[in-house]
Amino acid sequence: MTRLQELQQNLDEINSRIQNACAAAGRDLSEVTLIAVSKTWPAADIRLLHELGIRDFGESRDQEAFEKVAALADLEIKWHFIGQVQTNKLNHIAQYAHYVHALDRAKAITGLNEAAAKHNRQINALLQISLDGDISRGGVAIESAMELSDLISSLPSLDFAGVMAVAPLNMEPDMAFSRLEEIARTIRNTYPAAKIVSAGMSNDLEAAVNNGATHLRIGSALLGNRE
Ligand SMILES: *Cc1c(COP(=O)(O)O)cnc(C)c1O
Repeated sequence: MTRLQELQQNLDEINSRIQNACAAAGRDLSEVTLIAVSKTWPAADIRLLHELGIRDFGESRDQEAFEKVAALADLEIKWHFIGQVQTNKLNHIAQYAHYVHALDRAKAITGLNEAAAKHNRQINALLQISLDGDISRGGVAIESAMELSDLISSLPSLDFAGVMAVAPLNMEPDMAFSRLEEIARTIRNTYPAAKIVSAGMSNDLEAAVNNGATHLRIGSALLGNRE
């Protein structure tokens, strides 16, 4: 089997999982966007997935992402930076990311705004939410989500696009993502444009779709197990 055939087969399988999950949740397939998480995989794989119709790609390490973006400049791709945002990388990230998913600190948020302004770019900013309050694993505590939402919304080079979360290891994904959906709804009451709910990975995409996810971040089920 060629790599293209392998990716096609994996993609077919994921698409049918998404279809089934949408049907079970009474949602329209068009409400859900698949982000192919290409971290650790070569630019050649991104090219093949692009041939198969994927346009959204997720990367989590700046240097690696920066190189792939340069190598794939001829393709129309929406780049999602899904990793922890280190403030010393912001100037780089602001040059290529269309979406930044894991914002959870004022310093990273204001820094991203400044870097985006410097490069004349407008960036979609997502607030990462900690669903169990253990903020050492990334994400802002639910109690502080509104404060950082206000901050993102106040900055001219950021468009507040929504929320993101990873299901905590010790929590049922369905429970975790229903919490996320609730905070997403609260935020949308004040910021209606913040429509994205970035949730769900290879092992829990069904629970995410069941709880209103609009963007799924799928790595291993699509590209294979990472080293
Ligand atoms: C790596 C990663 C994913 C993809 O995880 P898989 O289990 O391989 O699908 C999704 N989200 C984030 C934040 C990641 O770092």
